[in-house]
Amino acid sequence: MLCTALAGLIVVLAGALLAVTMQMHDNLGWLDHSSRVLRTANHALSSLRTAESGQRGFTLTRDPDFARAVGPALDTARRDAADLVNLTADKPEQNERARQLQALVAGRADTLEAAARLARSGQFDQARQSTASRHGLELMQLVEAKVNDLLLDERALAADRMAAVESLLRTIRWLVILGTPLTLLMLALVARSLIQRIRRPAGEMLAVMGELGAGHREARITGEMGSREFAQLASGYNAMADELQRAVANQAEAAESLKTANAALSRNADTLRERGEVIEILGGMAHRMQAARTDEELAAIIEVFVPRVLPQIPGALFVHNNSRNLLVPTATWGGLEQVQTGFAPEECWALRRGQSHFVDEAGSDIVCPHVGVWADHYHCEPLLAGGEVIGVLYLRGTVGTESRFRLAVLSENIASALVNHRLQRGLREQTIRDPLTGLFNRRYLEETLALEMARAARSGAPLTVVMCDVDHFKRFNDEFGHDAGDQVLQTVAAELRRRFRDGDVVCRFGGEEFVVIAPATEVSILRARVEEVREAVSHLTVRQGERALGSVTMSFGLATWAPDMDREGIALLKAADAALYAAKREGRNRVAIDPQALAA
Ligand code: GH3
Ligand code: MG
Ligand code: MG
Repeated sequence: MLCTALAGLIVVLAGALLAVTMQMHDNLGWLDHSSRVLRTANHALSSLRTAESGQRGFTLTRDPDFARAVGPALDTARRDAADLVNLTADKPEQNERARQLQALVAGRADTLEAAARLARSGQFDQARQSTASRHGLELMQLVEAKVNDLLLDERALAADRMAAVESLLRTIRWLVILGTPLTLLMLALVARSLIQRIRRPAGEMLAVMGELGAGHREARITGEMGSREFAQLASGYNAMADELQRAVANQAEAAESLKTANAALSRNADTLRERGEVIEILGGMAHRMQAARTDEELAAIIEVFVPRVLPQIPGALFVHNNSRNLLVPTATWGGLEQVQTGFAPEECWALRRGQSHFVDEAGSDIVCPHVGVWADHYHCEPLLAGGEVIGVLYLRGTVGTESRFRLAVLSENIASALVNHRLQRGLREQTIRDPLTGLFNRRYLEETLALEMARAARSGAPLTVVMCDVDHFKRFNDEFGHDAGDQVLQTVAAELRRRFRDGDVVCRFGGEEFVVIAPATEVSILRARVEEVREAVSHLTVRQGERALGSVTMSFGLATWAPDMDREGIALLKAADAALYAAKREGRNRVAIDPQALAA
């Protein structure tokens, strides 16, 4: 509305100014016209005067120079008079005057020309009379009077036009004086209204944006915007805020799931690291178990490594005895060393079912009879290898779910190590045992002898060897048959094994000859034992089934290792054999000693 009014005002002012300036243009044109009329009239008059004075000069001086200006001046006067007629064509009164002036100018010009002609033909006196005649003077006065009339009238016209121009200028001044403040006022009103229309929606938008900036992501522009543009702006902003809210929500969701994934990853990494550690420990254990030669070594390895894999849980390893009717403790750790005794396989539910059996809370499961007072906190893990139950890992305490992996890998490792060890031991037994007597064979004898000699060489401890032979063995074979001979050999071998110390190595040397390696034993001390053995053998009654094969005696030869002997033991065995031969020679069933050993 205001805008329309302002536009109307500007149009009106511009129109008025245009109209006034056009009128002014017209009037100024008329003023110019009047000045041309005035100029032409004056020019016509002055041209006539020039011609008149030229003519007069010529007749007075007879100098033809004066005569020359007459013709052109008269032509000019005539042309000006004609121009005046044309210039005043639109004004009948003035035009009439102009025509009269033209006629007067023409009349005067004619008289002057006539005088000029007379003068040029030498009739200067007539010419002078004509020029100075009353008629000429009157004509000239008429011309002047006519020019004056014309000029007066034209000046009056010009004055009117000037007045009109001044009036128009005043109008313009008033238009400017009144129009400018009015326009400015209207402009101010329009600006104020515009500002008001912008300020309210812009204020709301700014407020909402501020809220959004402060973290209220649900803030939206809801008020009336007042214009299509602001409404579009508001809806665009709201859409953007929606998008932002969604994006932030998605981002938060993504961050949350990333956090969860990270936590899971870190848990997995921890588990993997822990499992890696367990596998490393168990690898070390398996390596050592593989290298272990005796059950004692195996037990020692288990006792060191199991508490590392399952810390804080005391326990014991039970394995089947040879007859598989009892589980005997072979390794214990964490304080169970003193208290463990063997138990029958049916006393353990883990062995009966072939899977883990545990009680982690009183009354939560049936209790194995072998457990005793720790009935509400224990775990039995069967050791299985190749479908065979080898033993059981008994743990006094609860194995948490996080340690199940450790326990599973541990029991697998122990089971396979035990089976390996057993297999290895069996194989080795086969290679080092004599199948008839169960004693070590000659190969083992040679290996052990070399080892013990090296040890003796290092430590300086004595090393004595006994070589013995069944007396008249051939007779048994001959009398009762080869099997009876074998029986004699078995009986004698068992007696030898029983009578010698644990640390002594009793071997079958070949046929009915045996060798005993007695490390760290002085010959004098061993001699007494050998006497006991000889005595005991001589009291044996050898039987084959129901049949008595009679008694048996043995001869013994002893020799001690000396540093000057060879490292293979040939000299030592030879010395013992020589002593044995001496015993045979001296009548059998006796003990003879290598003289070198006696001397030492
Ligand atoms: P001496 O008192 O001098 O030792 O007499 P001997 O009969 O014991 O000795 P000899 O060397 O003459 O006989 C050993 C016999 O032992 C010869 C052989 O047939 C027998 N023999 C060797 N190995 C075995 C065996 O594994 N089983 C049986 N039954 N006899 C064997
Ligand atoms: Mg013999
Ligand atoms: Mg012999």
